[in-house]
Formats: sequence, C-alpha cells, structure tokens
Amino acid sequence: MSKYVERVYNHVIEKNPAQPDFHQAVKEVLDSLMPVFEKEPRFEKYKILERITEPERIVIFRVPWVDDNGEIQVNRGMRVQFNSAIGPYKGGLRFHPSVNLGIIKFLGFEQIFKNSLTGLSMGGAKGGSDFDPKGKSDNEVMRFCQSLMTELFKYVGGRVDVPAGDIGVGAREIGYLFGTWKKITQRFEPVLTGKSLEYGGSLIRPEATGYGSVYFAQEMLKTRNEDLKGKVCLVSGSGNVAQYTTEKCIDLGAKVVTLSDSSGMVHDPDGVTKEKLEFVFELKNVKRGRIKEYAEKFGVEYYPDGQPWTIPGEIAFPSATQNEINNDEAKVLVDNGVIAVSEGANMPSTIEAIDVFLENKVLFGPGKAANAGGVSTSGLEMAQNFGFESWNRETVDDRLHKIMINIHKMAYDASKDYDDPGNYVLGANIAGFKKVANAMILQGHW
Ligand code: NDP
Repeated sequence: MSKYVERVYNHVIEKNPAQPDFHQAVKEVLDSLMPVFEKEPRFEKYKILERITEPERIVIFRVPWVDDNGEIQVNRGMRVQFNSAIGPYKGGLRFHPSVNLGIIKFLGFEQIFKNSLTGLSMGGAKGGSDFDPKGKSDNEVMRFCQSLMTELFKYVGGRVDVPAGDIGVGAREIGYLFGTWKKITQRFEPVLTGKSLEYGGSLIRPEATGYGSVYFAQEMLKTRNEDLKGKVCLVSGSGNVAQYTTEKCIDLGAKVVTLSDSSGMVHDPDGVTKEKLEFVFELKNVKRGRIKEYAEKFGVEYYPDGQPWTIPGEIAFPSATQNEINNDEAKVLVDNGVIAVSEGANMPSTIEAIDVFLENKVLFGPGKAANAGGVSTSGLEMAQNFGFESWNRETVDDRLHKIMINIHKMAYDASKDYDDPGNYVLGANIAGFKKVANAMILQGHW
C-alpha cells in the first residue's frame, strides 16, 4: 500500500468501526487506485480519497407501521447520499433483515464508481431498511412503504436523488413508494426507477441487470476468442438478477445448471429451460415461494444451505448477495475449470476470492462493471420520463448492450494503461474513479 492509501484506509477503519462490508469495499477500490496516485499526485493534494470515502449526507429514521394484527412494528430506514459530483444521487433501496449502516455504505460507495462507468450523469447513493418483506401481506408491505416514504420524501426527487430496487424491493414496493411520494409532493416526476410500465417504467428495466451481466461476460470471453454457446453456467440466487441472467444465458445457447435462495440450491444437470424458468418467475415473483419447490417440481437435486460453487461449470454468475464466494469456494471453482466470473450481485466475492480468480487468470468482471446494466437502464428510464417518451424493447436493449460494451472497453483500456491488461478490478476502479475525482476538483473544495 502507498503511504497515502494506507493513511486514508486506516482513517476509514478508525472512523467507521463495526462496518466490515464498508471497509472491504473501500479496500478493494483503494488498492486498485495506488498506481493512479503515483502518476497523478494532484488527487492527493486535493484530498480526494479523504473526501470520496465520506458520504455527503446520511439520514437514518424510524419507520413505524401497523401489521395485519393491529400491532405496531418499528423498523429503521436509511439513505446514504454518497457523492453527487457527476449527477443527482442514484442507487437502490434494499429491504432485508441484515441491512445496517455498514452494508448501505458499502453499496453506496460502490455505486459512485459504477454510475460513473455507465457514462450517464448519476451520482452514488444507496438506502434501505431492516424490514423483511418475506411472509408479509401486500397490505403490510404497502403500509411499511408508505411510512418509509413519509420521511424519505424530504430527501429525494427526480433531480435530487432517485432510488430504485435492490434485494427485497421490486415493482410492487416501487409502486407503493412512488404513490406515496406523489401524494405528499403533488408532483409527477421520475423520483424512482424500476416503475411499472403503466406509470413511466421502462421496457427492459427488469431484465437489465441480468442481461447486462451476461453481455459483460460475452465481452470478456471475446478477448479470448470464446463465447457463451454450449457453456455450463452456475447462477446463484433466484431473484430479479438471477432470473434474467438465466434467460439471457439460455437465449445465447448456454446451459444454466444451478439456482439458489437463502435456504438452499438446486442442481439441474439438464439445464434450466425457458419453460422451467417460467415456473421460477411465477414461484418467486407471484407466489413468493422457495427454490426447493423447483427441485420437487422437476425432480432434481436440492441441497439445503448449498451454494452453486461446488458444481462444475465454466462460467459463474454470482447473483444473490455480498460475500457469497469465499477463498475456498473460489479455489473449487478454479479447480473445476471456471473460465469467467461475472458479478451480477454487489461484492459477491471476498477480496481473497478475487485474488484467487486473478492469480489463475480467470476472466473476472467485478460487480461495479458487470452489474451496471441495471442502473444504466434506470438512467434510460429517467431520460424517457423527462422526455415524455417510451422507447420500444429493441431500442432500450440496444442501448443497454452498447453501454455494457462501452463499460467493458473502458475497464479493459484502463487496465492496459496501467500495465495489467484484463484486470477488470483495476480497470473498472480506475476508470470509474477518475471521472468523479476530476469533477470534484473542478467543483471546488466540497
Ligand atoms: P432479489 O431480492 O430479487 O433476489 C435476491 C436473491 O438472492 C434471492 O434469491 C435471495 O434469496 C437471495 N439472497 C438474498 N440474500 C441472501 C443471503 N444473505 N444469502 C443467500 N441468498 C440470499 O434481489 P436482486 O436480484 O435485485 O439482487 C441480487 C443482487 O444483485 C444484490 O447483491 C443486489 O445488490 C445486486 N444488484 C441488483 C440490481 C437490480 O437491478 N436489481 C442492480 C445491481 C446489483 P431469498 O429469496 O431466500 O431471500
């Protein structure tokens, strides 16, 4: 570590105790940036690292709501507005019992660089709550969302801060949040993305993160004259990102043999077909059931608490949650012949796991590049809303595809400029960072 990077990293740990996920995200970025500070000492002079690791604003608030039994429940809501140097804050909301400030800060910090890589004008933010939508009725979810927005509305707006979905927040939750914001403010503007088509949503937005992660994998494979056709793919999760990753893999002739949720994993050696995927859409988005039911329905193996990483495969798409691939699991993947990993989830690989992939020359697409298709298409949703337009599927998908090709190119070119061609961790962090850092310098000492 360079002295500057070490000093800032130690300061971050000291100032933000008990936030290991945030420390991990900062360490991954700072490690990559060391050669940048050697080449361009002005970033140190302007104290860019000290500034960029400190959120511009954090709000934490009480979210009381009444459950179906008439009992008052109390959750915690938060929004971390990390950096607005290149555009209004943008980043999802996560509803999951594990949500805490460290997790939202790690996600918000990553979002700064991801949004920069998209080439669109979006700053970085993230928010959420420890509310668990699992097992709640629609009315309970609605009352919770209404309560959350009666506080959050003070801090968000179409040109201020534009939240979207993430784990536990899909079209249903976005609808309730949007309805409440509109009711309070008497305005109709794109304050949220991931909306349903009826009131300003964009075609391809639900598909975008998963499709984008596969497009990114395609670009990485091209650098080795490979493609997805016939490849055995391991997908984790069975939510939004996992579902559309699987769909695009099938479309491109690959075979997805695993899916999972927080209870376990299914292994389908014949591959998930379009028909089986329809069952997953219904199971997860309508019935809100468990992936175990896939195994029961199609007569395949179910592994309680299992993860896909023990199953042999050539391409891995971790698409569930943070730190789902550790050092040992990465080694098993490598031993089993994995050639590419494209992170649909945010920070699904630990730092040690990333090292294993890089040492073994596995094509490794870090989340901030590989899953940037979601926020990119959110940006396209905002562009349509502000222009009072709705683009067709082909237009949005084509723009998403081009954005992913461009993100790959930016990350690849930066990795080459810094003498480690094909190290997308280095490339994505450097390319994402420089634009934001330069914008911060140009705007003065804020
Ligand atoms: P969903 O809520 O739709 O699905 C999440 C999936 O991951 C579910 O299958 C869930 O299982 C599983 N999961 C969640 N937490 C855990 C856990 N602690 N352990 C094991 N499995 C878990 O979320 P998304 O698909 O939207 O998000 C998945 C990942 O992709 C997240 O890291 C998110 O930040 C990232 N991402 C999402 C984007 C989007 O556009 N949606 C954009 C960019 C990144 P269960 O049902 O049992 O909870």
